[in-house]
Amino acid sequence: QMSGIQGKTIAITGASSGIGEAAARLLAERGAHVVLGARRTERLESIAAAIREGGGKAEIHPLDVTRREQVEAFVQFAVQRTGRIDVLVNNAGVMPLSLVEHLKVDEWDRTIDVNIKGVLYGIAAALPFMKKQGAGQFVNISSVAGLVVVPAAAVYCASKFAVRALSEGLRQEIGRDIRVTLVSPGATESELAESISDPEMKQRVIQDYRREILPAAAVARAIAFAIEQPGDVDVNEIVVRPTAQG
Ligand code: NDP
Repeated sequence: QMSGIQGKTIAITGASSGIGEAAARLLAERGAHVVLGARRTERLESIAAAIREGGGKAEIHPLDVTRREQVEAFVQFAVQRTGRIDVLVNNAGVMPLSLVEHLKVDEWDRTIDVNIKGVLYGIAAALPFMKKQGAGQFVNISSVAGLVVVPAAAVYCASKFAVRALSEGLRQEIGRDIRVTLVSPGATESELAESISDPEMKQRVIQDYRREILPAAAVARAIAFAIEQPGDVDVNEIVVRPTAQG
């Protein structure tokens, strides 16, 4: 295992805003070759341009994590461009909170497709390369909502509990060669609440649960901490909340 961040190829899903964008900027600043994926490619372009202007290395590739072939193409692109994939940050996620009784079934599907299946497709795409390298790391982004169930968030919490369970299962199976890290942030500044379709619900979530928020850079530092440890140290889980969230 290589240690540190310098020189590693780090692919990040959902890198067009929020935590993914902050992670891309920080990891590139610390010497990683970052590969950014998301659907909004014009956002990716401007983030990558800023990273390159600062002397960093960044590549972009269009990515919808609900499409297995696109996730494979994304990881293959990273390997083609840089020769390897050291870390995959499975960060892309949506949070269309609603009450179960409102039966927003399309939003349940979307939550499961992006938050769970997207992570699984990422694992499926990168694991063969990491096994061939004999080393690698998955950093999966769950949430405090993967630890406790909060109001109007049954399906979102279920998706984040799932990310936690499959990260731990993966670690037990492949943890000897490949590191698995789960990062569970509390409320963090990003565009995540935009995926809430009910305007009243969105307003309530922002007022009640998103008053105290971490800057996305704080979560990026937690991700960097797990990556920069020596190869024989696997930080399994990090929970990071705004202090004022209590
Ligand atoms: P943002 O909404 O700012 O970022 C979400 C990212 O995911 C965007 O880059 C978006 O890109 C991408 N994304 C969404 N759907 C897809 C898709 N189908 N394919 C590819 N990319 C997709 O929110 P955050 O930065 O907050 O979210 C990042 C992660 O952090 C999520 O997993 C979220 O659940 C988790 N999290 C966030 C917390 C918070 O309070 N903000 C707290 C705990 C966890 P695009 O639309 O361009 O495809």
